[in-house]
Amino acid sequence: MKLILIGCPGAGKGTQAKKLSKHFDIAHISTGDLLREQIQLKTELGKKVTNIMNSGHLVPNEIVTQLLSQRIEREDCKNGYILDGYPRNLSQAEKLSSITGEIDKVVLFEVDDNAIIERMSGRRSCPKCGHMYHIKYNPPVTFDICDECGSKLIQRKDDAEETVKNRLKVYHETTSPIVSFYDEKGLLLKVSGVGAIDEISSYLIKTLEEA
Ligand code: AMP
Repeated sequence: MKLILIGCPGAGKGTQAKKLSKHFDIAHISTGDLLREQIQLKTELGKKVTNIMNSGHLVPNEIVTQLLSQRIEREDCKNGYILDGYPRNLSQAEKLSSITGEIDKVVLFEVDDNAIIERMSGRRSCPKCGHMYHIKYNPPVTFDICDECGSKLIQRKDDAEETVKNRLKVYHETTSPIVSFYDEKGLLLKVSGVGAIDEISSYLIKTLEEA
C-alpha cells in the first residue's frame, strides 16, 4: 500500500503516519526527518538546507526529490510506504508518480490555522532523549526540564510562532493546489486532524481497509 499524508505543519501527519505504518507494516517516510538527518550528520546538503528550514521555507525540489528517491529504494519499502511531508507543491506531485508508480490514497488532515499556532508554538522537546512536551497540554513536571532525563527542554527553531505562521502561509500558497490535483484523480480522503489520536487512527484504518 502506498499512501500520501497531506496537511499543514502540526496537523498530526507524523503521529498518524507512525500508527498507520505499524498497522499496515509499511515504511514511514518523512522528508522533514530525512532533511534533519542530513543537518545532524553535518553533510554538505545539510549545511545547504539549514537556513531554509529554519525560516520555514521549502527546500528546493531537486534536493528533496533525490533524498526521497534514494529512500524508497530501501528494503523496508518493498511492502509499501507512507509519505509524510511529500509532495509539498504541484511540481513535486506531478513528478511523484514517475518515482513511486500508482498511489492508493491521499489523506488530507484538516485543522484550523489558530489551533495549529497554539499546538506548535507550545511544543518543547528534549535535545537529549527526544521526548516531546506541550507547555499547556502535556507539560513537564518541572518547568522547562525533561521528566525523562533532566535535560533543559528546547523549542525547535521552526516551531517558533513567527516561523509557524510563515510555514502556514507557505502551506496555503503551495500545498493547497495539490489537494485539488488528487481530488480530481479520486484519491482524496479527508479527515479532521482535531480530536483524540486513537479515534483518528481507528477511523483511518477502517476507511483504508474498506477502500
Ligand atoms: P516537516 O518536518 O515535514 O514539517 O518539514 C520541515 C521542513 O523541511 C519544511 O518546513 C521544509 O523546509 C522542509 N521540507 C520537508 N519536506 C519538504 C518537501 N517535500 N519539499 C520542500 N521542503 C520540504
